[in-house]
Formats: sequence, structure tokens, C-alpha cells
Amino acid sequence: MAHFTVIGLGRFGVAASLELIHLGHTVTGVDCDPKIAEKYTEDFTEMVICDATDECALREMDLGNSEAVLIAIGEDMQASLLTTLALKNSGVNNIWVKASTKAHHTIVSKLGVSRIIHPEEEMGIRVAQSLNYPMVNNYLSIGHGLHVVEIPIQACLNEVTLNQLLGDISDNIEPLLVKRDQETFTQLSGDFVLQTNDILLLCGTRAELKYLAPRLV
Ligand code: ADP
Repeated sequence: MAHFTVIGLGRFGVAASLELIHLGHTVTGVDCDPKIAEKYTEDFTEMVICDATDECALREMDLGNSEAVLIAIGEDMQASLLTTLALKNSGVNNIWVKASTKAHHTIVSKLGVSRIIHPEEEMGIRVAQSLNYPMVNNYLSIGHGLHVVEIPIQACLNEVTLNQLLGDISDNIEPLLVKRDQETFTQLSGDFVLQTNDILLLCGTRAELKYLAPRLV
């Protein structure tokens, strides 16, 4: 469990915060609009109403205990940049910034932050990947032409072993783990029996994973 601070509670900031809380972390929300802060007070671990471009106000918050600070100020690029500078001056190391435009990205990248996020582009890529592999929940490119995919096991694969599922490509696709309710199975052998609603993580090349796709539905 870690603590995070999210500055700017628009749709993006709130979605990120609520998911962090859902994952078991604690989150301090920061917004300059008291109405917004009030609206989400109950959902956050802590709520601070302040102008995040104000370095003195930031210093009053205990940002040292945050694993990372996410700047989720959307449209106001000037406020986002000044907040980034104020955080850097306050000694915060792990800063993530949502960038809404190319200019925003260019300037933030010069300020040296840990990660710049482009929600629209990143979501667009994810949607394209889901369209490409509709049977896949999640899709991660790990380099060397390899991908990790998360496959929800359908009823048609209940009681099927990994060997039966992978068949002729079992040498080329690596089953990494199976999640079943609260349990996780690793170091899977070929005779591991799948059950409906298992989540299977596989690693392989795009071509091999595509070849496997018709067997999954
Ligand atoms: P989204 O596109 O994710 O919905 P918005 O731009 O609508 O994002 O929301 C950004 C939030 O950031 C707003 O709630 C706004 O009040 C807040 N915000 C803007 N400037 C500052 C600032 N200087 N300090 C703190 N919060 C700010």
C-alpha cells in the first residue's frame, strides 16, 4: 500500500484517484475549487483545497510521504506548468503529468518529470489493441517482439488443459500465470486444467497469439 497525491480533480484525476483507492492505496486530492473538493471529500483519504501553483501552499502539505504526485490539471496549461515547477522546487522527485497538447508535452519534458501521460492517445492505442484482439482483456508490449495478454477463459474452455489449448504452439507461447478467484497459479505445467472465468496470462509473439485467437472463443 502506498500514498499518492493527485492535483486537479477533473474526470481524469478523479478516475485515477478512485482506482488507486480501489487498489488499496491512500490518496490526497488537491483542487483549487472548493465545490469540487467538497463533492469528493467522502471518497478521498484526504482533501486539500489550494492553488497548486502556490509553492508555499504545497510546502505546507506533507508531499514527502507520497510515492508519486500526479498533476491532472486538464485545460489550464499554465497552471499545470507552474504546479510542475512548484513541485520540483519543493523537492518532489516522482512527478507524473497529464499533458493535453503537444506544446504542453514539449515544455513539461524540458522540466524533467517521471512520466508524461496523453490520455486520449494512450486510450486510442488500447482500444485499437482490444479491437485487434477482442478476446483479450489487457495487452502489454514488453519488447523483443513479445506481448503479454490477459485472457478470460470462456465456458467453452472449461476443463481444457494448457497442452490441449496451446497444442502445436506450446513451444512458442509461455503461460505465465492463472488467476482464479483469490488464488494465483504460477509455474504452470502442460496438464494444468483451466476453468471458466480463470484469467490466463500468456506471453508470445503477436503472430503466435493471433494464431491462437480462434481457439479462445
Ligand atoms: P479533465 O479534462 O480531466 O476533466 P479539467 O481540466 O476539467 O480536467 O479539470 C482540472 C481540475 O483541476 C479542475 O477541477 C480545476 O479546478 C483544477 N485546477 C485547475 N487549476 C488548478 C490549480 N492551480 N490548483 C489546483 N487545482 C487546479
